[in-house]
Amino acid sequence: MNIEAKELTKIYGGGGNQVTALNRASLTIAPGDFISIMGPSGSGKSTLLHLLSGLDRPSSGHLTYDGKDLYSLSDKELSAFRRRRIGFVFQQFHLLPVLTARENIIMPLLLDRKQPDEAYLRELAQMLGIQDRLSHLPHELSGGQQQRTAVARALIAKPDVIFADEPTGNLDSRSGGEVMELLRTVGKEMGKALVVITHDSRIAGMAERRLTIVDGVLSEAAV
Ligand code: ADP
Ligand code: MG
Repeated sequence: MNIEAKELTKIYGGGGNQVTALNRASLTIAPGDFISIMGPSGSGKSTLLHLLSGLDRPSSGHLTYDGKDLYSLSDKELSAFRRRRIGFVFQQFHLLPVLTARENIIMPLLLDRKQPDEAYLRELAQMLGIQDRLSHLPHELSGGQQQRTAVARALIAKPDVIFADEPTGNLDSRSGGEVMELLRTVGKEMGKALVVITHDSRIAGMAERRLTIVDGVLSEAAV
């Protein structure tokens, strides 16, 4: 899937309290791209990710997925589109504490009234090294295992693109590195585009395309 963002601007607040969180950000994402976005706290990284994934709408600008205008969809259509085509990984894992790892992984399908593809679920769990942890609750898992469960959840609906907002921010450097390696491997083997926001220059350096954002202005460095 080709994603094209044109001049996305997000202004929060009104009157004298306006904050331009994102200033005319343009970006294209091709199938299989591995992109990192680095920038200081408050520079607009999460705002950009929310706009690129249709979690939020811009003050101005356009976004298309294979030519389809995403912001012209209703909120309901947009959330269905996200569930089917986009995977998310967050810093805080966002696993439901009362559900097992397996139940957490298949939750996006259940919300869509679909049954899991068991063979695919086994393959994912195997690749992510959580095949013997599927019946555990999140609190019985290490941070790295919790995030790998969240990665499996992001992939279960076979999305075209994964957006990860500081996916290693709550992990020590070793398990963070493992999670990133796995994200990269799974992304490559399954042909997913991967967009990772990070503070960590080592993690940003793993990406093929490295973008930076400062005061809401996005730029891509020639690598
Ligand atoms: P980052 O993820 O890089 O830390 P954010 O995208 O979260 O940055 O925020 C960018 C700027 O927009 C910051 O100045 C932040 O305070 C502001 N901002 C973010 N979300 C909101 C909101 N819902 N209302 C008002 N201001 C916001
Ligand atoms: Mg953020």
